[in-house]
Amino acid sequence: ESDLLVIDELATHFHTDEGVVKAVDGVSLTVPHGKTVCVVGESGCGKSVTARSVLGLVDPPGRIESGHIWWRPSPPTEPLDLAALDPRAAAMRRVRGGQIGMVFQEPMASLSPMYTIGNQLTQAMRLHLPLSAAEARERAIAQLARVGIPQPEKRFDAYPFQLSGGMCQRAMIAIALACDPGLLIADEPTTALDVTTQARILDLLRELKDQTGMAMIFVTHDLGVVAEIADEVAVMYLGRVVERGSVFDIFDRPQHPYTVALLESMPTAGLSAGGRLNAISGMVPHPGNRPAGCAFHPRCPSMIPGLCDTISPPELTLGDRRSAACHLLDAEVAAPPPPSRVPA
Ligand code: SF4
Ligand code: MG
Repeated sequence: ESDLLVIDELATHFHTDEGVVKAVDGVSLTVPHGKTVCVVGESGCGKSVTARSVLGLVDPPGRIESGHIWWRPSPPTEPLDLAALDPRAAAMRRVRGGQIGMVFQEPMASLSPMYTIGNQLTQAMRLHLPLSAAEARERAIAQLARVGIPQPEKRFDAYPFQLSGGMCQRAMIAIALACDPGLLIADEPTTALDVTTQARILDLLRELKDQTGMAMIFVTHDLGVVAEIADEVAVMYLGRVVERGSVFDIFDRPQHPYTVALLESMPTAGLSAGGRLNAISGMVPHPGNRPAGCAFHPRCPSMIPGLCDTISPPELTLGDRRSAACHLLDAEVAAPPPPSRVPA
């Protein structure tokens, strides 16, 4: 069975006056049909840049340097390499919003204050679907009801400032799903909301995913959210994926010291209380200043001197859809061969 989206060795760099910042530096990631893949890591790890790269939404001076982003909405269609498309190309505009929906952290910043919710929703629909104004209105009202907005006929004519943060995020989700995309990319969609609203939005996204069969890439810094919504998890550190696996593998059998540290930094009060990732010793280095070898070595309690600080660990396959990049997992490092007895 083929994956819906395959990110292969993606590199997205920012060419700044101070030098090149390798925000995403060789990320590979696959999204199966109908599954939620959470991309988790501390701020600056490249998770948002990865998500924005898929949509052709990397702002200058950033640009995709190399790698592929294979999009295959249905088996008979040829896969399309989104990484090779001009962000402004018609093909990219068809995919973005039409086949791949997106929701960001700040609903107020994504919605226009100048237009009603209904206007923005019908515009999004009519960009991709051949609908008359009346058809679009009818579909938009149904869509508002579907995302749990009460009195949708009335809300259709409301401006964003007339709605709460939670209702605005529901409206954003309605816009993102207006054209029944196969994939929704959600970048910290609940981070700006209070805990109760956050839980409701997560419930809504899960319900919509089950109803529609869409897949999701869900970007978050919060392991509590990951536990709530993920099927699979990719843990990122400084522009690379350091561990991948099912949500059960990541929580029950983490293999990479960074994943272990993330889990240990969560409050023990329970996963749904919302984890914080700032308890790991040491600071995340700036991506423009990537440490040699394993980028995590200055903070890693298991660092092997002479190896981890010089040689970058390769991504090791640990099972089906399961991998990690750490020298400790390399059998030869973990169990070095006995010293040769042959006299010199
Ligand atoms: Fe730690 Fe070395 Fe593994 Fe990096 S490669 S996570 S420094 S043990
Ligand atoms: Mg971000």
